[in-house]
Amino acid sequence: MAQTHVLGFPRIGARRELKFAQEAFWRGETSEAALRETGATLRRRHWQLQADAGLATVAAGDFAWYDQMLGLTTLLGALPARFGFDAAALTLAQYFALARGNAEQPAMEMTKWFDTNYHYIVPELDADSRFDGGTTWFFDDIDEALAQGLPVRPALIGPVTYLWLSKSHVAGFDRLTLLPKVVEAYRRILSQLHARGIEWVQIDEPALCLDLPPAWRDAYDHAYAALADSGVKLLLATYFDTAEDHAARVATLPVHGFHIDLVRAPQQLQAWLAVLPATAVLSAGVIDGRNIWRADLRKVLATVAPLHAKLGDRLWLAPSCSLLHVPVSLDAETRLDPELRSWLAFATEKLDELHTLATALVHGEAAVADKLAAADAALASRRSSRRVVNQQVQKRLAAVTADMAERASPFDHRIVRQRDALKLPPLPTTTIGSFPQTPAIRQTRAAYKRGDIGALEYLERIRGEIELAVRKQEALGLDVLVHGEAERNDMVEYFGEQLCGYAFTENGWVQSYGSRCVKPPVIFGDVYRPEPMTVDTARFAQSLTDKPMKGMLTGPVTMLQWSFVRDDQPRAQTARQLALAIRDEVCDLEAAGIRVIQIDEPALREGLPLRQADWAAYLEWAVQAFRLSASGVGDETQIHTHMCYAEFNDILPAIAAMDADVITIETSRSAMELLEGFGAFDYPNEIGPGVYDIHSPRVPTVSAMTRLLERACEVIPPERLWVNPDCGLKTRGWPETEAALANMVSAARALRQTLAGQAGTQWKRASRPAAGVAHAAGSHVHGAACGPSCTGQAAL
Ligand code: GLN
Ligand code: ZN
Repeated sequence: MAQTHVLGFPRIGARRELKFAQEAFWRGETSEAALRETGATLRRRHWQLQADAGLATVAAGDFAWYDQMLGLTTLLGALPARFGFDAAALTLAQYFALARGNAEQPAMEMTKWFDTNYHYIVPELDADSRFDGGTTWFFDDIDEALAQGLPVRPALIGPVTYLWLSKSHVAGFDRLTLLPKVVEAYRRILSQLHARGIEWVQIDEPALCLDLPPAWRDAYDHAYAALADSGVKLLLATYFDTAEDHAARVATLPVHGFHIDLVRAPQQLQAWLAVLPATAVLSAGVIDGRNIWRADLRKVLATVAPLHAKLGDRLWLAPSCSLLHVPVSLDAETRLDPELRSWLAFATEKLDELHTLATALVHGEAAVADKLAAADAALASRRSSRRVVNQQVQKRLAAVTADMAERASPFDHRIVRQRDALKLPPLPTTTIGSFPQTPAIRQTRAAYKRGDIGALEYLERIRGEIELAVRKQEALGLDVLVHGEAERNDMVEYFGEQLCGYAFTENGWVQSYGSRCVKPPVIFGDVYRPEPMTVDTARFAQSLTDKPMKGMLTGPVTMLQWSFVRDDQPRAQTARQLALAIRDEVCDLEAAGIRVIQIDEPALREGLPLRQADWAAYLEWAVQAFRLSASGVGDETQIHTHMCYAEFNDILPAIAAMDADVITIETSRSAMELLEGFGAFDYPNEIGPGVYDIHSPRVPTVSAMTRLLERACEVIPPERLWVNPDCGLKTRGWPETEAALANMVSAARALRQTLAGQAGTQWKRASRPAAGVAHAAGSHVHGAACGPSCTGQAAL
């Protein structure tokens, strides 16, 4: 039998049981014992699902409170000393304090897990870090599974990936010097698994799919040589991209098998086959662990049948990566249209697909004829459904010409027209879009959704909120106003619900971080905009004021990035469809008299591929999609974009190539680093570096913001500077928002005076020609991306 297995299963539970249990525990409403019982119930259920689906082994050890990297940190005992916790006697409350902070200590850092929207807790290591062992929870989970009589295959993140993903607060500290100690800890863990009679251990090394420096590549040799005699067999798992360039070397490591991602990187198969040792297992990741589409089982069989013929029992079948990144089960989707539902496979359904594949390999396709027929039928319906393919969209897309992604004139012409039209003061002040989402606003939206209030009452209440926001902004003296986004729960969902080609699940939750889950919408078909989405709102908001009102839209790349995307056409193609839909909206806003339009792209950076070699191609289509959405307007209409919570310095040329008239950008993580980047690169258009961090209720002082602005003036010509917070304000309350914005306006006004009075300062909002920009990739691989605290995504 071809073995089947998964690299991990979603742990939150089909009804987000883990989330609710954790949050109740945090509120002090339940005991540690009760929370542990919920965890145990979920583990048992998920193992049973794997066993019932006929998988050869069940994955254990993939469960985690909050996060698997934090789990590994506590298993190794490598807690940051600043918390003062005893690793071996850690309580769950202390564990959560590591992740969430406590009265004395800020939380450990969190960042994105490779290019997923899952966030892990970054190990915090230095020369004194100890790896003497900590909690027994990992082993307890394994024992639990063994006690159920299940064929247990533990899963662990590997030592090199663990270290690679860690950080040190000590400048210049070489984390690799810790490798011998870390590996020693793994030796102990593996021998304890061996003592339990465990045969195979899956050891995840997704860092092998990154561009690793030579010393880190060497680290694999050292680490795995030291683990060779642990007594267990190791399945070295790579995923999310290709590891083919390391295949020859990795194949010589003293491990017993390799898992590779054949969904993301099918091209790597031949390279691995060429070097696969004669006794080694190849675990083929053939079911998409990152997306929700039902697999094309015949196509997969065509790939794996020859492999099975060649490798026999040494071929294992698996999803491409842990199923952590997809929702638990379609069972919870009762309202999804039956046709669309038949196209989908969540984690539980993917288990069944694996079993079908294995059965077909061993007993022939006839043995699973009904399953294959069902998959064929779903595929055929998906291919031919009129809901997927829309000839008009296709025609329109085919007719897109290069000039449609070009504004009529270059920036230096446009900006003159815009300045004439907008008549803004120097250092204009604005905000990023959303204003506090008060309980009243949330209740209004919920009441409307439930049908408790009608469309008219809803509209009136929302308009009341918009009016309130406008009045407050006028009182504050802001220059370019926003309507406040009271009608939006989530910046992707709001638009997705109004676009054709998008579907929404009821319970398609995916863990984002800790207890937070997101429910990404599903792009299943050609996207188009049946009617204007924001024009009435914008027109109403503009009618309330003489100041320019910004129209607020979500950009095509962010729409794409935060959705489950169709797999039957390239992402670039879907992005272009989204771009056309947004372009229509941009043009309609302009026609309605809106003179400033912001197209948010907070997720542009996070779409960057893992391999730098792939960056240029991605940036090319991503930037083109943005430009296509933005370029239908006249010169005097000012296009803004906004980005946040990512490292931008490595993609500055691409950001410039977006050619937005103004970019507002988060700087709070490292104001100077970002500004220096923009200064050194000589960013050609206007820019509003965020002058305060909206994630804190702390009201920044006038002088703090003035200092930041003065520093900004040193690297960016003041005539091209804007003044704004670093992200939307929806998570804040009104009192601190008003206080902070009042200070921000004061800082801008004071600086205007200073600059105007400075002898020799040529103070005019003059323009300069935009630099010719090529797409170039920088050098960062180890980057944080749009953070969980970003206000764009509703995580519940
Ligand atoms: N306009 C959005 C807001 O202000 C932008 C959110 C984001 O950057 N993620 O909420
Ligand atoms: Zn933002």
